[in-house]
Amino acid sequence: MMPGRLLSCFVACLFLLACSDQEPDKAELFVFGTLVDISLSGADQAAVKAAFLDLQQMFQRMHRDWHAWEPGQLTTINQAFATGQVASADLYLVELIRQSQNYEKTSGGRFNPAIGRLIRRWGFHTSDYPIQAPIPTADEIAELIAAHPSSQDVQLHFVGNDQWEVRSSNPAVQLDFGGIAKGYAVDLAIERLQARSLEGAIVNAGGDLRAFGSNQGRAWRVAVQNPLGGIIGIIEIAGTEAVFTSGNYQRYGMDESGFRYAHIIDPRSGWPVSQVMSATVIADSGISADAAATALVVAGLDEWSEVAIGMDLEYVLLTDEKGVIYMTQAMLARVRMSTETAKKVVLLD
Ligand code: AMP
Ligand code: MG
Repeated sequence: MMPGRLLSCFVACLFLLACSDQEPDKAELFVFGTLVDISLSGADQAAVKAAFLDLQQMFQRMHRDWHAWEPGQLTTINQAFATGQVASADLYLVELIRQSQNYEKTSGGRFNPAIGRLIRRWGFHTSDYPIQAPIPTADEIAELIAAHPSSQDVQLHFVGNDQWEVRSSNPAVQLDFGGIAKGYAVDLAIERLQARSLEGAIVNAGGDLRAFGSNQGRAWRVAVQNPLGGIIGIIEIAGTEAVFTSGNYQRYGMDESGFRYAHIIDPRSGWPVSQVMSATVIADSGISADAAATALVVAGLDEWSEVAIGMDLEYVLLTDEKGVIYMTQAMLARVRMSTETAKKVVLLD
């Protein structure tokens, strides 16, 4: 089969791209508004096809259950929160809530998935970019902030059969897992692939990825994109590491005066962040890397170390609006760059 040849396209658009013996088998899925690239190494064609179909179904289910504005499990829960009712949640949604509570705490409130109302008011509950909705007034923002939505307001009660009852003591809580859903989905995908007899795999959701094992005997390698164009360098993945980038350059809004605003909101002020252009993290899991990258964009250059300490991060890369690249010493040792780029890197300490 020729590389890149299309085998089939299903509802969620699964493209199987078969490769030569020297290349991993590849498939593409369109979920979470992103193209997810999956590469598998060391399996026969039947096993590869079964693995891809399994992941396609899993991603489709997550897309339906975790979506912040298309009707599904999460929108039902958010409706219940707003009216003081009880709703049910499955194991995966409960794990997202528990991890959110943990990361909200360790990030010092910079990662806060309970600010769905703010995110919606800024116009980000849409798939059409750039957003051109009118921006909220200062009073509206102040009101949304004064309600102090927090994932800690959510209570969970196990009722058996992998089901929980969930309620919120604060009606202002609206969960939006846009900052970690991709990370958790990538973790679950890797977990499922590890259960198959593969040499290795990488699941790459629009530059956010996790891998395990090897690629035809070699380490998996990934490029870190430069928000201003081109790449910053190459990272070799060790073990089952995840590499996630959060940026304010891909999804944004713009008002009629040309004011451009990011899709990441500082939960403390209610305003979109502006100083940091992108944050890249290497961590042990997709969910922690995803939450950390979002929290670091909120923290910016002045507060990044508080997040790094709280979330136990070693590998941090930030870029600012002027295109300056900042890295921790540990990250610097992991990114292979041109001498030209390396000379310009500013050390974070
Ligand atoms: P990411 O690209 O992982 O940084 O996620 C960005 C998405 O997370 C946004 O589109 C929102 O859905 C959501 N989000 C925005 N600001 C925050 C925040 N401060 N904490 C948690 N989630 C956020
Ligand atoms: Mg994130």
